[in-house]
Amino acid sequence: MAKQYDVVVIGAGPAGYVAAIRCAQLGLKTACVDQWLGADNQPVLGGTCLNVGCIPSKALLESSGRFEEINHTFADHGITASGVQLDLAKMMARKAKVVGDLTQGIKGLFKANGIDWHQGRGKLLPKLQVQVIAHDGQSETILEAKNVILAPGSSSVEIGAAPLQDGVIVDSSGALEFSEVPKRLGVIGAGVIGLELGSVWRRLGAEVVLLEAQESFLGAADEQIAKDALRQFKRQGLDIRLGARVVSCETGKDGIVVQYQDSKGDHSETVDKLIVAVGRRPNTEGLAADEVGLLLDEWGLIHVDEHCRTNQPSVYAIGDAVRGPMLAHKGSEEGVMVAEVIAGQKAEVSYDTIPSVIYTHPEIAWAGVTEQALKAAGTDYRVGTFPFAASGRARAAGDSAGMVKVLADATTDRVLGVHIIGAHCSELIAQAVIAMEMGASSEDLALTIFAHPTLSEALHEAALAVDGRAIHIPNKKG
Ligand code: FAD
Ligand code: AMP
Repeated sequence: MAKQYDVVVIGAGPAGYVAAIRCAQLGLKTACVDQWLGADNQPVLGGTCLNVGCIPSKALLESSGRFEEINHTFADHGITASGVQLDLAKMMARKAKVVGDLTQGIKGLFKANGIDWHQGRGKLLPKLQVQVIAHDGQSETILEAKNVILAPGSSSVEIGAAPLQDGVIVDSSGALEFSEVPKRLGVIGAGVIGLELGSVWRRLGAEVVLLEAQESFLGAADEQIAKDALRQFKRQGLDIRLGARVVSCETGKDGIVVQYQDSKGDHSETVDKLIVAVGRRPNTEGLAADEVGLLLDEWGLIHVDEHCRTNQPSVYAIGDAVRGPMLAHKGSEEGVMVAEVIAGQKAEVSYDTIPSVIYTHPEIAWAGVTEQALKAAGTDYRVGTFPFAASGRARAAGDSAGMVKVLADATTDRVLGVHIIGAHCSELIAQAVIAMEMGASSEDLALTIFAHPTLSEALHEAALAVDGRAIHIPNKKG
């Protein structure tokens, strides 16, 4: 007989596993189906984020950041280090351990919450049945659910111009596994993932060239911040070429010859490794039987309303497989919301204040709207900026690049957007998100006491600058 559940979740990434945990907390009998196999070919929870995304990339950013610091900035502090060596195998093993510990942690949470983990490929059948095909490809289990949550996540987009080649032309997962530092590394796509992975390998010693088809840089970010970021990344040695569309690649004895076009014509670039980081697409092929009639859009994203309901009753979809930014915390919040909706509670996601972060150095983080979006919408706004160069704490750290920018409604003074480039701003942005979530005005931030000396004071000063009364910079008149 088929196993019966209140909720069956397909996918155990940060959207699906969080949804499953919240469902179980709310007393719903819950199962989660996942098909991920780890490096040792064993089933493992956590999806893209824990296994080949957020966590391993941040582990390598952290390690490579320390390598860069000891080589380049320790001397400024009067510390000389000699004989510094890179043990890449150890760095990779550390990353693998971080990932392993965290994925084991999810396994423990599933156990503690009484969630059944079904290992294999899930498919939604009519009448809220879920078929699970085990990893052997043979055994089939049928689960019956009162509700189904689809959280299948996404995979790297592949392009005909650069077909993947094991260990040579790689996607983001392959770029987390190089066994030696490439001498010359190409990256197709200067988006978030291309910049983070390009930064890791540059810090470890590679010459890195990024080829980006768009003429603009980081189009989703505030233009002023993106401009500053481009300048700083170029200064670090990242060779970022905008308006450069890769059209073909050929592997020869000297490496990979990458052909690309820009406004000036055809060019080629020879590299010894190439990362393809041109975006991600939802894993929705074959996810639901045709008879279910699950509605997808032209990109393969599952169509959902603001509560993540699909076009089928009692079927929900969350995370990278639905509209909105492909971010782990966005998927997790959708998971919590859907669990609570299923349990009969009132719940929603604050889509307007989802923070975006790029974990380069300096980091880039923002929440809310950009200045260019306010201009395009004709909104009357005021802006306050504050450079980290004027922050005592940033100076003491010897890490004072970047700025904070606060955008506030000119009439109501409500904070509409906060944009930061600078050290640790992945942490600082949370303060802006809390303020915006509470409907704070720039004056509320200005009236709040921030500890001295902290990087957070730059947010305070930027809020003061909205009203022309920052203390540690001259204010613009008028
Ligand atoms: P996923 O994490 O992709 O998980 C989906 C799971 O479902 C997978 O285990 C998959 O195998 C499984 N699955 C799919 N179909 C089926 C099926 N039919 N049956 C059974 N199982 C199935 N986001 C951030 O917020 N911060 C970051 O710093 C960040 N860094 C990133 C770095 C890299 C290199 C990459 C690639 C991504 C990064 N992301 C980051 C994005 C983040 O990883 C995703 O937004 C997040 O993983 C999406 O969560 P999800 O649960 O929707 O899907
Ligand atoms: P993101 O969407 O942040 O993952 O970034 C992916 C980037 O890859 C986008 O900025 C695209 O413009 C870029 N891109 C896509 N195809 C190509 C290509 N053939 N050559 C160069 N850049 C590309």
